[in-house]
Amino acid sequence: MNLTILGSGTSVPHPYRSSSGYWLETSRGTVLLDCSASAIHRMAEEDLDWPNLDAIWISHFHLDHIGGLAPFLFGAKHAPVTQSRKKPLRIFGGPGLHKLLEAFSDANDYDLFEQPFPLEIQEIESLEKFELMPGVEGVAMSTPHTEESHALHVREGETTLVYSGDTGSCEPLASFARRVDLLLLECSFVKEKPVEKHLELAEAIYLIRKAEPKKAVLTHLYPEWDEVNFEEEVRKLSPGREVIEAKDGLRIDI
Ligand SMILES: [Zn+2]
Ligand SMILES: [Zn+2]
Repeated sequence: MNLTILGSGTSVPHPYRSSSGYWLETSRGTVLLDCSASAIHRMAEEDLDWPNLDAIWISHFHLDHIGGLAPFLFGAKHAPVTQSRKKPLRIFGGPGLHKLLEAFSDANDYDLFEQPFPLEIQEIESLEKFELMPGVEGVAMSTPHTEESHALHVREGETTLVYSGDTGSCEPLASFARRVDLLLLECSFVKEKPVEKHLELAEAIYLIRKAEPKKAVLTHLYPEWDEVNFEEEVRKLSPGREVIEAKDGLRIDI
């Protein structure tokens, strides 16, 4: 597998961190992990094959994670490059996903469910195993952030990845991500976090030390990170493995 970071930031407009979107390539096909408004254009900017995207995972319904989904379906419906597409696009997320898309669709008779290709929308439950695409398995785990928020475990053969989505401090996440090849973990704040429902650095490193992934990437970085020497702060907490600062455009082999 390999991962391209489309957006390492949050909902706050930022000059070089756009909002959540991660392009995951497997040997069976591609998955977009979260779909912010900026992610749909970032795919094109990174020269990724978005017209043939196989699946989209929505971690939760905050707009910096789902705000690009309706615009993407609107674009896919009308773009010349998708008119001859035959294979399905699968969209996965927590309970309420279908209703939310319906609301977007009805806002202006967009008919977003009528695409040139089959569209499959699947609402998943926590700890239910599902097929992101043939040969690539997903398992979701509820996280303390919103009612429908989930972390996602992806497995293709022996290769594994966990994407936390947004989360507050969550001990079970360490077992869920135990010894994965890559842990893509939110780390919204440096310290003295202003809200419970996100992580700050010490909490993120604690989870990494418990989970023992091969490597970890910290993402969903609020602007307070701009003033901070990332490597120095991480080193102070001795994570015991490589911890990478997410940056838009970064590509990582897993
Ligand atoms: Zn977010
Ligand atoms: Zn959120």
